[in-house]
Amino acid sequence: MLSIITSTKKTSNMALDSKIPKGPLADKWTNYKNNINLVNPANKRNIDVIVVGTGLAGGSAAATLAELGYNVKAFCFQDSPRRAHSIAAQGGINAAKNYQGDGDSTYRLFYDTVKGGDYRSREANVYRLAEVSANIIDQCVAQGVPFAREYGGYLDNRSFGGVLVSRTFYAAGQTGQQLLLGAYSAMNRQIGRGKITMYNRHEMLDVVVVGGKARGIIARNLVTGEVERHSAHAVVLGTGGYGNVFFLSTNAMGSNVTAAWKAHKRGAFFANPCYTQIHPTCIPVSGEHQSKLTLMSESLRNDGRIWVPKNMDDVLAIREGKLKPTDIPAENRDYYLERRYPAFGNLVPRDVASRAAKERCDAGYGVNRTGEAVFLDFASAIERYGKERAHIRGFDENDPKIVKKFGQEVIKEKYGNLFQMYEKIVDQNPYETPMMIYPAVHYTMGGLWVDYNLMTTVPGLYCIGEANFSDHGANRLGASALMQGLADGYFVLPYTIGDYLSQDIRTGKIPTDTPEFDEAEKNVKDSLEHLINNNGAHSVDHFHKKLGKIMWNKCGMARNAQGLKEAIVEIAALREEFWKDVRVPGVLNEYNEELAKAMRVADYLELGELFAKDALEREESAGGHFREEFQTEEGEALRRPEFQYVAAWEYKGTPKDAVLHKEELEFENIEVKERSYK
Ligand SMILES: Cc1cc2nc3c(=O)[nH]c(=O)nc-3n(C[C@H](O)[C@H](O)[C@H](O)COP(=O)(O)OP(=O)(O)OC[C@H]3O[C@@H](n4cnc5c(N)ncnc54)[C@H](O)[C@@H]3O)c2cc1C
Repeated sequence: MLSIITSTKKTSNMALDSKIPKGPLADKWTNYKNNINLVNPANKRNIDVIVVGTGLAGGSAAATLAELGYNVKAFCFQDSPRRAHSIAAQGGINAAKNYQGDGDSTYRLFYDTVKGGDYRSREANVYRLAEVSANIIDQCVAQGVPFAREYGGYLDNRSFGGVLVSRTFYAAGQTGQQLLLGAYSAMNRQIGRGKITMYNRHEMLDVVVVGGKARGIIARNLVTGEVERHSAHAVVLGTGGYGNVFFLSTNAMGSNVTAAWKAHKRGAFFANPCYTQIHPTCIPVSGEHQSKLTLMSESLRNDGRIWVPKNMDDVLAIREGKLKPTDIPAENRDYYLERRYPAFGNLVPRDVASRAAKERCDAGYGVNRTGEAVFLDFASAIERYGKERAHIRGFDENDPKIVKKFGQEVIKEKYGNLFQMYEKIVDQNPYETPMMIYPAVHYTMGGLWVDYNLMTTVPGLYCIGEANFSDHGANRLGASALMQGLADGYFVLPYTIGDYLSQDIRTGKIPTDTPEFDEAEKNVKDSLEHLINNNGAHSVDHFHKKLGKIMWNKCGMARNAQGLKEAIVEIAALREEFWKDVRVPGVLNEYNEELAKAMRVADYLELGELFAKDALEREESAGGHFREEFQTEEGEALRRPEFQYVAAWEYKGTPKDAVLHKEELEFENIEVKERSYK
C-alpha cells in the first residue's frame, strides 16, 4: 500500500510507511488487534501519556487511556474541557447501525466516505472507521447521551449529504454538546480517581523530542504566564482544525494550528494542508467588522430546499427590498441542486453544494445586498409536516392555517435551536421567510500525517480527531467528524498506543532537566518575549484579517496557479511585517489573551504559505478544491489519476523549503470512477 516517491518538484524519496495491516479489508482491524503487543495493568501504572486537547477526540482518548490504567496528563486552553470547540457541533454523528433498515452497512458507510472524499483517503482507515462507528453509539448511549428517539423509543436517524440512507444520530441541534458532556463525564471520573491530571488554561507551545521520540511538551499557563515542562512516554495531539487561518470561519475563536504546527516543525509531516471544507449553509458575511461566521447545520438540508430566483429582475427586486422571496411563485424559482443533481437533490455533499451556490452567485443571482447568498426554504416541509400532523390529529388538512401551525411545530421540534440562532443573528423569522445562506470555511481535512496507528512521523507522537489528516480525503461528509474523533479516541488509539508503549515498560520517568527541554523552552520564551516587547503599530487581528483575505481570495473555493503564486509571496511578506510591526499590549507574566493570539497567528502565517504551496502543487480539482484550470466541460471538479496521493510535507526551516512526500493511495475494494451525484 505504500508509497515510493517520485516527482519533478521538490520531493523526497523517503518512503512513508502507513503500516496498513495485511489481509482482507474487513479483517485488517480484527487481525491487527489480535496480534499487537499489550501492556499489562501493572506496567500501565508506570507509563505517562500526555493528551493535548480535550474535545471529542482528546477527551475520549484521555478518559479511555486513564480507564485502561495509564497516567494521563490532559491539557486544554479553555477554562474547562467542556468548552472545546466540539461543543459547537450541531447536526449529528454517523454510524452504520442500519436502524432504519434502509440498506445501510459497514461497507456502504465506508464506500460513501471514500467517494464523498473524492477518492483521496486511505481505504483501510476508512473501513475501520465505519466498522467501529456502531460501537460509538452504544458507548455514548451507555454514558447517557440523550440522542433523539422515535415514538417507540428507538434512536432516531436523519440524512446528511452524499448518502442515500439515514444514518445520522442526533440530539436536537446540539449533538456535539451532548457527546462532549458524555466524554467529559468519563474524564471527570478519571480526574476524580487521580488517573487524569487536568491542566485547564494551558497552551502547548512546543513538542519535546528526545532521542528521536516525543517525550514531552512545553506549555504556557495562560493565567500566570508561566512556561512549564511536562514529560511523558508518549504525546497525543487532539487539538482540532485550523480553519481560522481564513480569519472568518465557523470554528470557535480559539481554534488554532499551533500544536500541530509546532509538531510539524519538530518532524511531523503535515498532510494535505490545502484541504479545507467550505460548508454550504452558513449565515452570510455581513460586513468588515465581523470576527466569526455561524453555521446553519447540514441537517437543515433534510427539509430545506435551496433556490435562487430564475429571473434577474426578481433578484434585483429582492435585493432592493421591493419583492419578498415569498412573493416569487414556484415556477420562477431555480431549485438548482434539485435541477442539477436529481438523485441527491439538496443532499449532495458539501463541496458540491458549496460550489453550486458560488456558481449561481457568481452568475449574479445572489439574493442579498452583497450578492453572496442563496435561499434555504422550509415552506414545503412546513406544509408537508403540517398536513401529516393535521391528519394524525384529526384536523382539517386542507386548512392552511392549521397546516402552517402544525408544520411549524414539527420544524421547531427538529431544528428549533438553529432557527432561534438564525433569528437572533439575522433578525428575520425563518419560519415565515427563507433563510439566507452562503458557503463558509468550516473544517480542515488536512492535518498531521498519521499512519494506521494514528502515529505521526515522530515516534511516540500521535494525532487524533480533526487535527490529523484524517479519513476524509478531499471532502468530509457531514456528521463524520464526530464519528472520527470518537472512533480515534475511544476505540482506535487506546489499542495502537499500547503496542508502542509496550517498549517503554522499563524506561521509568522521563526527566525534564535535559538539553532537549532546555532548548524547547528557550525557543518558546524567545518568541513570547519578542512579541511582547515588539511595540509595533498594528494589532494581531490586523495581520490575521489580512491573511484571511489572501486565503479566501486566492486559496479559497476557487484557485488558480497565478493566484496561488501571488498568495505565497504575499503571505511570506505579511509574516515578515508581522514580526516587525505587531503590537501586543499587556505583560508577559499574567493572563494576556492578545499574547496567546499573537503566538497562534504567527503559526497561521507559516501554515498559510504551506497551504498555498500545497494547493499550487495539486494540479487537479478534488472535493471542494477547485483548481480553475482543471474542470469538466460542465464545470465540475476534474480529478486526475496522477494526483491520487496524500501530500505529506516535511519541514525544512521555512514553509518555502518544505519537501513533499507522497503516499500513493491504492483502491482495491472500491472502483475509482466519476463521482456523480446525479
Ligand atoms: C459549528 C460547527 C458545527 C459542527 N457540526 C458537526 C456535526 O454536526 N457533526 C460532525 O460530525 N461534525 C461537526 N462539526 C465538526 C466537528 O465539530 C469537529 O470537527 C470536531 O468537534 C473536532 O473535534 P476535536 O476533538 O478534533 O477538536 P476540538 O473540539 O476543536 O478540540 C480541540 C482541543 O484542543 C485544545 N487545544 C488546541 N490547541 C491547543 C494547544 N496548543 N494547547 C492546549 N490545548 C489545545 C483545545 O483546548 C480543545 O480542547 C462541526 C463544526 C462546527 C464548526
